[in-house]
Amino acid sequence: MGVATMDLSFTPEQGAWRREVRDFLDRELPSKYEFQTDYEERDEYWDFAVQFTKKVGARGWIGLTWPKEVGGQARPPIDSAIMVDEFDYRAAPLVNAIGHGLAGGTILKFGSPEQKRRFIPGILQTETIWVEGLTEPNAGSDLASLETRAVRDGDDWLINGQKTFTTWGHRGDVMYLAARTNPHAPKHKGITIFCLDMKQRGVTLQPLFNLGGGRQNHVFFDNVRVPGDMVIGEEDHGWYCIMNSFYGRGGGSMGGRVRRMFDKMVKFCQETQRNGRPLSKDPVVRMQLTELALTVECMKLLGWEGLSRAEHGGPEEFGGSMASVISKDSSPRFAQTCMEILGPLGQLQGGPWAPLAGEVDKFYRQSFGNHAGGTPQIKRVVAATRGLGLPR
Ligand SMILES: Cc1cc2nc3c(=O)[nH]c(=O)nc-3n(C[C@H](O)[C@H](O)[C@H](O)COP(=O)(O)OP(=O)(O)OC[C@H]3O[C@@H](n4cnc5c(N)ncnc54)[C@H](O)[C@@H]3O)c2cc1C
Repeated sequence: MGVATMDLSFTPEQGAWRREVRDFLDRELPSKYEFQTDYEERDEYWDFAVQFTKKVGARGWIGLTWPKEVGGQARPPIDSAIMVDEFDYRAAPLVNAIGHGLAGGTILKFGSPEQKRRFIPGILQTETIWVEGLTEPNAGSDLASLETRAVRDGDDWLINGQKTFTTWGHRGDVMYLAARTNPHAPKHKGITIFCLDMKQRGVTLQPLFNLGGGRQNHVFFDNVRVPGDMVIGEEDHGWYCIMNSFYGRGGGSMGGRVRRMFDKMVKFCQETQRNGRPLSKDPVVRMQLTELALTVECMKLLGWEGLSRAEHGGPEEFGGSMASVISKDSSPRFAQTCMEILGPLGQLQGGPWAPLAGEVDKFYRQSFGNHAGGTPQIKRVVAATRGLGLPR
C-alpha cells in the first residue's frame, strides 16, 4: 500500500530568495527600529518606517505578486509568504498594509484603468498611505449593518456618518470607505466603496488609544464631497469588493512574530540563573517552553497549509480562517505563558530590571488586539460555513 507523504521543503530558488530578504533586512533594519507600526506612535519611528518601506518598494517587493503591467513582479504567492515570514520574524516596520492589501487588491480587481494609473504607483512607491474605513459603532462583526450614508450630489457624492477603530487614520491620505448608497436594498446589497481624501474639509478625527500602545481613531464625516470617479467597482456592489479582496485569504502570517519571541525566550532561559541553575534546566519552565513551541509549530504549519490550499484552488477561506483562529486564540495564551516564565519583573516596560527590555510585556498587551480583521469567533464562522460548507 502506498504511503501519502507531504513535502514541506523549499526549492533552492525559494531558499535563495529567503536569504536575499534576510540580507536586505540585515543591511537596512537596525534593531532599534524593529517594531509594529500599528502599536508605535512616535513620529521618529513612523518616519523611519516610511523610508524603510520606500526602500522595499524600490526593489519591487511591494507589488511582488502584482501583474507586470501595473508595475508588479508577477511572482508566485509563496515568494510573498517567504518575505512576509522573514519580515514578521524581524518585526520589520512595513507601513501601508491597507494600501498593499485591501485597497490595492480591490483596485486591481475592480478599479477602472484610470484608478489603476492614479493609485497603484502611489502604493508601490509609498507615496499614498491608505486606511480602512469599514467598522462603525454599530457595525463590527456584522459589517453589512453599516450606516454611513453616501448620497448623490450632481456628479459627486456627499458622505455623512462615522467610522471607528481606524488604524493609521491620523497618518493616512486616502480612506477605503464603505458607505451605504441604497438604504432600500437588502443590507449586503446597498453598499459602495469610495476612495476618500482624508485631508479634506468635513473629515474630523478623534483618537482612540489602545492597551498595546497604539492609536486607532473615530473618524467623522460631515458633508464630505467625493467625486463620482472615486467609486471603486459598481455602485451598490461594495460588499462583493470587500469579500473578494479581504476575506480570510491564505498567505497571511506564518507565525514569524511568535517564532521570534520563542527564540528570544529560549535564549533568555538559557542565560538566566534562578535558584542556582539556568531557567532552562527547571522542569516547569521546560514544560512551558514546550507549550510555546507547540503554538509556534501550529501557526507555522497552518499558515503554510492555508497558502497551499489557496495555490491549489481549495477554499481559501478555510485555510486562511483556520490559521487566523489559531493565531488569534493562541497569541494571548502564548504571551501569558511567556509572562509566567519571566515572573513579576516581566511586567516592567523598561529600565535595567526589565527582562528582555520589556519586549514581552509589550507583546502581552498587544496580543489582545485580535479583533482587527475579524474576531476569532467570526473566523470560526467563516471556516465552518465557507470552508466546510456547514449550514448557517
Ligand atoms: C487594534 C484594532 C485595530 C482595528 N483597525 C481597524 C481599521 O483600521 N479599520 C476598521 O474598519 N476596523 C478596524 N478594527 C475594528 C475591527 O474590525 C472590529 O473590532 C471587529 O470587526 C469586531 O467588531 P466589534 O469590535 O464591533 O465587535 P462586535 O462585532 O460587537 O463583537 C463583540 C463580540 O461578539 C462576538 N460576536 C459577534 N458576532 C458574532 C457571531 N455571529 N457569532 C459569534 N460571536 C460573535 C465577537 O467575536 C466579539 O467577541 C480594529 C480593531 C482593533 C481591535
